[in-house]
Amino acid sequence: MVATWRMPDLPFFDESHTELGERLTEWVKGAAEPEETGSPYFADECKTIAKEMAEWGFLDYAVPAEGGLNSKIDVRALSLIREALAYRSGLVDSVFVMQGLATAPLWLTGSDELCSTYLEPARQGQKIAAFAVTEPEAGSDVAALKTTAERDGDHFILNGHKRWITNAGAADFYIVIARTGEAPGSRGLSAFMVDADTDGLEIGPEVEMIAPHPIGEVIFRNCRVPATNMIGAPGEGFKAAMKTFDIFRTSVGAAALGMARRALAETIGHTKSRELFGGPLAQMPTVQATLADMALDVETSSLLVYRSAWLKDVHEGRHSGAVAMAKLGATEAAHRVADNAVQLFGALGVARGSTVEQIYREIRPLRIYEGASEVQKVIIARSLLQS
Ligand SMILES: Cc1cc2nc3c(=O)[nH]c(=O)nc-3n(C[C@H](O)[C@H](O)[C@H](O)COP(=O)(O)OP(=O)(O)OC[C@H]3O[C@@H](n4cnc5c(N)ncnc54)[C@H](O)[C@@H]3O)c2cc1C
Repeated sequence: MVATWRMPDLPFFDESHTELGERLTEWVKGAAEPEETGSPYFADECKTIAKEMAEWGFLDYAVPAEGGLNSKIDVRALSLIREALAYRSGLVDSVFVMQGLATAPLWLTGSDELCSTYLEPARQGQKIAAFAVTEPEAGSDVAALKTTAERDGDHFILNGHKRWITNAGAADFYIVIARTGEAPGSRGLSAFMVDADTDGLEIGPEVEMIAPHPIGEVIFRNCRVPATNMIGAPGEGFKAAMKTFDIFRTSVGAAALGMARRALAETIGHTKSRELFGGPLAQMPTVQATLADMALDVETSSLLVYRSAWLKDVHEGRHSGAVAMAKLGATEAAHRVADNAVQLFGALGVARGSTVEQIYREIRPLRIYEGASEVQKVIIARSLLQS
């Protein structure tokens, strides 16, 4: 078992990050190895993990204390935390980040009243958050979504079907993007806060993913939500979702980086101890070449991720090209690293439950969610052609 994680040695950090890095190293050392048990909804696990993340103070970096124009989070800190958590467990990483990502439309654009009700319980890990955008006919093409929110006096009535929603069934509240129809396509969408126990909100059949991840369907049947639960202005839901992804996508790259670092560390340990043809596997030149490829993937990902995070923190504004490069580069690289790790472990690499086998499965969804790799290429090309 290799469980040492160290903060990357890069010029993008300040003292506060170094102090956080020390706390993260301590957490990584003490964290339990993930166990693949529980129902697909993982409701109990989510709540336990969220509380632990709050106790360590990590959630303070994902959910700001207050919403409003000045609310922002430190993307370098967010990325460091995700890298370290994902080094040990994809599930812990997911629970951590969802508290921030799924409340972001609220703290970026929501009213003071909604922020004061929902942010603190999320920050304390007392309430689990979810962000419901995707639908059967609207995944990468968010603007195609069909869930409707129709005004009825001082309420909106939601009808529609969301799927692939992280924390479905475990969440205490959902931020839902629905069509309010101010304009066609992406300009006719708005965001709503919906409590999990609202009449007309149903959780669909359980879904089991390739690696442990709480995910499922959320169905709205004449679900009445107070008009004051609209987050931000009418027709601004798509923008709020895109702003959210612009902050959090870099951290998907960071999570991939954590998994890749772990796979590399495990592989170095294994190739040094595994005796083959009269010597350690690590002595073979082709094995050394593979280790070099893996290290190169890890280090280039680290540069892409923390450059993107630094840009966001220091230069503010949108840096969509750099953000997309961090997500695309690090997730694709981590996939290669995990595959190389499995190869060098031989049969042990494909035996259910071995660490590299788990990483091989855990890394896969990161190339799909928050914009598939192809979508990131479109964003990069667009930013190149616009400049
Ligand atoms: C683990 C996990 C967690 C998730 N959590 C959430 C959540 O909490 N909330 C939520 O709303 N959604 C969530 N999703 C859904 C996720 O956002 C979608 O899966 C994603 O947007 C892709 O949509 P899709 O699966 O419908 O694939 P599709 O949109 O059908 O795309 C399929 C494939 O087509 C290709 N493709 C897509 N667009 C282009 C393009 N422009 N050019 C070229 N090729 C393209 C890509 O290879 C893509 O993988 C989650 C998904 C996963 C796997």
